[in-house]
Amino acid sequence: MWRSRLRDWMEKQGQRRILEVRWLLNPRGMPLRNVQIEDEGGIITAIRPIAAGRESESLPLMVIPPLVNAHTHLEFSALEEPLGPAASFPDWIRSVVTWRRAQPGSPSLAIEKGMTQCRELGVGLVGEIATQSFLHRPPGTACVVFREAIGLTRERIADQLQAVQEHIASRTSIEAAGSSIGLSPHAPYTVHPELMQKMTELAIRHRVPVAMHLAETREELRLLQHGDGAMADFLKSMGLFDSAVFSGHRQMLEFLEPLARVPQALAVHGNYFAEQELSFLVKHPSISVVYCPRTHAWFQHSEHPFRRMQAAGIRVVLGTDSRASNPDLCILSELQFLLRRHSELSVTDMLEMITTSAATALGRNEFSCPVQTGHAFAATLLLCDGEQTTVDATLRAVGTRPLLAISKSGYAEADLARIVRSFSKST
Ligand SMILES: [Zn+2]
Repeated sequence: MWRSRLRDWMEKQGQRRILEVRWLLNPRGMPLRNVQIEDEGGIITAIRPIAAGRESESLPLMVIPPLVNAHTHLEFSALEEPLGPAASFPDWIRSVVTWRRAQPGSPSLAIEKGMTQCRELGVGLVGEIATQSFLHRPPGTACVVFREAIGLTRERIADQLQAVQEHIASRTSIEAAGSSIGLSPHAPYTVHPELMQKMTELAIRHRVPVAMHLAETREELRLLQHGDGAMADFLKSMGLFDSAVFSGHRQMLEFLEPLARVPQALAVHGNYFAEQELSFLVKHPSISVVYCPRTHAWFQHSEHPFRRMQAAGIRVVLGTDSRASNPDLCILSELQFLLRRHSELSVTDMLEMITTSAATALGRNEFSCPVQTGHAFAATLLLCDGEQTTVDATLRAVGTRPLLAISKSGYAEADLARIVRSFSKST
């Protein structure tokens, strides 16, 4: 019954209509139970309680601001399961390189597949790391497309800067599709200092955000500090080790300092940030840390310092990372994974890590609005497949899953068709 009511509501897109839901939850707000959300022309015109006596008629849905996955690499979305071995990061990178070389043609099909997965998982905005020009067209989930650059040699630096310039030149068409651009010097062990400097200058000049993998492994720290270890061996085996670049006595702050000068930056992972990096981040709130919980667990890293970071006032948001280290691209599952491991954490405090705060971290403030009267009805609907009586228990429940992302411009016919199809399967 409720399914046909939802379908009727979806079919009235743009008209005056009312959605009656079990929960409305904005991050750090009071959960509202059994409410009507009225919208017209995509703008919310009223939010009010369902009349007394009719509460049981609310649809089994929770409305939250749009889900945001702050970090992924969609080109790996054709993978059915993560690559191994997880026990050795350099060996895992070897697997990634081998897998990528074995893929025929361009990764655009995998990227499209990943975008579809994101859309079906209720994600409104994705921080995507791209290694080629980005072909996605609407309708669909919006992206911040960070053009990745990897380069340790002179020739490679020139090639990569050329590709970055081309990405910047494609800005207008990417923005016309509702997405935006960013840059991503890959990581300290794959980016020459000169490439880092040039990309920073470009990000400042063109006012675009930057994402960089930082302090992901102990091997990376060892390479910078001492110029040896498993990561140095890996670079040597690839013919990429330059003793002038990795001469030791380098540290993570060398990368955080330029990131503090760009408009918005993501320090991806930060698994092994030490006190001095945390102190730096406290003073530079334009840099956010992206924690990828299930990827972090896949590699069996030491416990992530996200609670210490948050307590110090550092913005920490969540990402999935790619399907090379994660079974799927469900950002809600990342939060649920964390909540299961930390029963003391508050759902309403944590929700912003996959919604409003993550949008701010990506520099897309239009995705960071709460669901409230007078705003565009941009939101994610979660299906609550149980009878939990609190919002906390509902969000933690395994049966609670994303159903639909509603963007400012609504949703596509494909969304309606998919939902009707899923209903016919479940009845
Ligand atoms: Zn990554």
